[in-house]
Amino acid sequence: MTTAAPRPSVRSAKPGVGRRDWGHVPILAVREQGETVTYPRLLALDFDGVICDTVREGCRSAWQVCREFVPLNGDAPPPELAALFVRLRPVVEHGWEFPVLVLAILDGIPEAAIWDAFQTTCRAQVLEKYRVTPRQLAARFDAVRDRTIARSLDDWLSDQWLYPGMADRLRSILADGITTYVVTTKEGRFAHTLLATHGVTMPLERVWGKEQARPKPELLRVLARTHGVAYRDLWFVEDRLKTLQAVTREADLTDVGLYLALWGYIMPTDPDKAAADARVVPLTLERFCGDFGTWTK
Ligand SMILES: [Mg+2]
Repeated sequence: MTTAAPRPSVRSAKPGVGRRDWGHVPILAVREQGETVTYPRLLALDFDGVICDTVREGCRSAWQVCREFVPLNGDAPPPELAALFVRLRPVVEHGWEFPVLVLAILDGIPEAAIWDAFQTTCRAQVLEKYRVTPRQLAARFDAVRDRTIARSLDDWLSDQWLYPGMADRLRSILADGITTYVVTTKEGRFAHTLLATHGVTMPLERVWGKEQARPKPELLRVLARTHGVAYRDLWFVEDRLKTLQAVTREADLTDVGLYLALWGYIMPTDPDKAAADARVVPLTLERFCGDFGTWTK
């Protein structure tokens, strides 16, 4: 029978001690009970808003979806609509909601109302008005992407990019032998293509997309079980605070390291909420790109 592992003590670890010995210490060695955890053995990363800035591509693809059932001029959205979409991106939680956000903006729903009520009344109102379902919108959204990629991969890639320093950091993490997964709510193949294009080579089976169709807390369980890793050695980086909070409500996941990507699509109130949360560590991009030992509260 195993006893519960202590919570990760990385949060009180001294900065800079995380990575310097990786070349000499077998990374997969079993940790002693109570040993300081200064790097993950298993790292799970969200994609949009953590690894990749995809908001402009999302807006353009959503615009093209909307053109299929609303008369709209032009292949690309007007700059004012795109700018508003970029600002409001944090309200979107699933791919099918991208066209819903475009329709909400086109319908003249005030920005403040979208911030306050997109996930509740606003989203439902748009679906009802246009008589579409989330499933239909998701299929159209993926189809638009597939058509764009088939026509020109360069076109599709042109308005989305990995965050500064991200490609180098991911390559270094992978070279250090840390088992890394991408867990995203978009189609895994799209994320895999973007990573490969930027020189980050990951096996396709380690890029888990919406085809996995399981909530992220459950995905974390499957990951830990599959690799025989204790939860304290599993770190999860995500830009949606609600997802991290969902993990905090799962008693068995108490030891998972939870990190909020402040460079992503976060709600304006998220930094303060994360700072006040005992479990969630707010992370800047600079810290993400530095030593794991600095990922402290
Ligand atoms: Mg995200």
